[in-house]
Amino acid sequence: MILLPQTSGVYILVFHLAKATSIAFDRKGTQHSFPPGWYLYVGSACGAGGLKGRLTRHQRHIGDRKRFHWHVDYFREHALLCEIWYGETAHSEFEHHWAKALSDLVGTTVPVPKFGASDCGAQCPSHFFQLPDRPSTATFRAKLASRHLSLKILVEFVAEPRNKNESARGLQDEYLLGRRFLEVRRRSIPESSLEPCKWVSLAKRKPARQLAEQIVKQMKVSFPTLKEAIEFATTVETLVENCRANVLQILFDPHRPQGRKAIMSLSRTSDIRQRYRVNGVIHGLFRSVAPHSDDTVFDTVKYGEVPSRLARARGSLERLLELLSTAGENVLSEGRRLSRLCRLSAQRLDGGLMNRIAPASAVPRYLGKEILMSTLRSEAVQGRTIGKARQALRLTVKNLWDFEEMMRRGLVPTAEELATTRRESEQIQTTARKIECQEHLFVR
Ligand SMILES: [Zn+2]
Repeated sequence: MILLPQTSGVYILVFHLAKATSIAFDRKGTQHSFPPGWYLYVGSACGAGGLKGRLTRHQRHIGDRKRFHWHVDYFREHALLCEIWYGETAHSEFEHHWAKALSDLVGTTVPVPKFGASDCGAQCPSHFFQLPDRPSTATFRAKLASRHLSLKILVEFVAEPRNKNESARGLQDEYLLGRRFLEVRRRSIPESSLEPCKWVSLAKRKPARQLAEQIVKQMKVSFPTLKEAIEFATTVETLVENCRANVLQILFDPHRPQGRKAIMSLSRTSDIRQRYRVNGVIHGLFRSVAPHSDDTVFDTVKYGEVPSRLARARGSLERLLELLSTAGENVLSEGRRLSRLCRLSAQRLDGGLMNRIAPASAVPRYLGKEILMSTLRSEAVQGRTIGKARQALRLTVKNLWDFEEMMRRGLVPTAEELATTRRESEQIQTTARKIECQEHLFVR
């Protein structure tokens, strides 16, 4: 499916290694333990078949009757080939220029000296590098430009061979399709005189739409399919940006595929929560990256969520007040206890807003995350009535937990939001007081 030219050129293979792997990388069986991370291999294809022949070969595995020839052939069997960067040129010395440019990127290390460079006559330390983070073509291009090595770099995304799990496959294909568009667009912006913001819209006659239509034709997909893929790829790129860690491996793990819906809903949460879910999946704490109501981490993307949470909390408390009139004794006392905590949370939030101080640093122990989460998860008293009380508390206290971080991030309320917050918080306190004062209405 990849459209590669048959001309000569220079290329970079971008690999990802999910876990530390010991690999014998030559015929003598020389071993090296490669830590997990991103790996880049520089090569040139100047013989028959050109870039197309060489890069097609690199994509194949030993199972495809490939004979090992280069160091990178051994490495390739263990790592995921994610991207191919290439430029068309008849000058093979670009291979060494590219290797030197890569070795100068921040954080680059040489895992094995002279790996892939045993016949290099240009004194490159290696043609194979490790990077802590996903490499960016933009940074690499800038590095080349600073050395006046202007060669147009194209990017292709590699789809690994099909395996049993079609759902992980399908999602990865969708991501690669979307990335193709994003990459073509990224490439087109510097070449045009239009502002980057003009490239966002896919409306008819806009430049981005014209690029999209070229890809639709090239890839033989429909426009709506591409549009969804662009949305999905943008989402995944945000997660990659925020989580860094091997998030791509987690999202497209064939053994434990994540759903599209889970990925999309994760992207709408705060960056801290994204890292929390992704790391949780990496460490086997959760199965899904989908945000869960029990997540205790910071999760306010914009201040507007605060009044909206408070309004929902107020609704739950009002319903609780009605339901309690027919509730049993243990439900009543538990309902009162939770309402009291709601009232104290609302009061604290109010105080924090008034003084613009971070109430989180002064959150008393009984409103602390650890203690309250165990209360909220406890199953001592069950039923719809108590469910309402727990929901109200969860929604109220979350604002308090997030407050300090919100202020730190500059998520401050507008005058209108501030007024709504205070009004809702007052009503929560009034309703909670009513609940706390409820007499035993239940008569045995
Ligand atoms: Zn070299």
